[in-house]
Amino acid sequence: MILVTGGAGYIGSHTVLSLLEADHQVVTLDNLSYGHRQAVLDGHFVEADLQNKEALARLFESFPIEAVIHFAAFCYVGESVTSPRKYFNNNLVNGLNLLDAMLQAGVDKIIFSSSCAVYGEPLEIPIPEPHPKNPINPYGMSKHFFENILSSYNSAYGLRYVSLRYFNAAGADPAGRIGESHDPETHLIPLVLQTALGLRAEVKIYGSNYPTPDGTCIRDYVHVCDLAEAHVLALKYLLSGGKSIFLNLGTGKGHSVREVVESCRQICQKPIPARDVEPRPGDPPELVSSGGLAQQVLVWRPQYSLKEIISSAWNWHQNPKF
Ligand code: UDP
Repeated sequence: MILVTGGAGYIGSHTVLSLLEADHQVVTLDNLSYGHRQAVLDGHFVEADLQNKEALARLFESFPIEAVIHFAAFCYVGESVTSPRKYFNNNLVNGLNLLDAMLQAGVDKIIFSSSCAVYGEPLEIPIPEPHPKNPINPYGMSKHFFENILSSYNSAYGLRYVSLRYFNAAGADPAGRIGESHDPETHLIPLVLQTALGLRAEVKIYGSNYPTPDGTCIRDYVHVCDLAEAHVLALKYLLSGGKSIFLNLGTGKGHSVREVVESCRQICQKPIPARDVEPRPGDPPELVSSGGLAQQVLVWRPQYSLKEIISSAWNWHQNPKF
């Protein structure tokens, strides 16, 4: 049985689906503060908060948990700057409760949802895993601190981990069963698609004088189903005795904001008004993963192109289930 914390969230729910499709038994834990109950299509579901140590202990007593995939965390960079307390309490203190419950129950394998935000302003592109970690906001710091905690727990208690540093997750289940539904929505592709649907007046392009070919920021967009598959592979790696490791999850290919908006126009066949505005504070010009280590260690092959990412997201946004 695999415990997925935060399995009702965007990447978590796609991972639950991939685990079930790979014939794993799954128990999802979510406090539903941001997640959606309808996003968890099958398996066991427990509504609880990681703050609740008794509920955690009961969970580990009730299910024969072999390994944990830990998504449950807050993920808005801007909010982490204005409410660091909220971020450190949930992403660190509550995360420590989970690790305590695991150690208490003798569960020694964890896959952690990390982020390319651990690197801060990149010193080289593409970014390799050993790149210095200089997070520039409390969200990135919380992910970096938790990675350090995992390292210490590995040395001291033999807890083995795979820490997956996501680049830009996007897209949706191609069958349209689940997809991205954040409130508030801050991510580029859903905002552009909501504009295509007439739910927003225009897309704001944050910054057009960056030192990139078209002046807009470049990001490494990776399909959420490719990310989900990487978790299934990371689990296989840990279950077969793999050593603790930090891995980037990106495609190694970057796309600019203008390219994304233009691809959305083509796929949706809508004009999609866009306007250049001031840069968003803290946005580096380019974030692209070196990508190769996860491909080598996990034998992970991201399948989906930017067009397929946008098409699957468009399919979802036209008919969201939650
Ligand atoms: N972006 C934008 N307009 C928006 C939202 C995002 O121009 O309304 C840009 C943002 O500056 C960044 C890229 O799109 O360069 C991806 O942003 P997103 O918030 O999706 O992900 P992030 O890279 O911040 O994790």
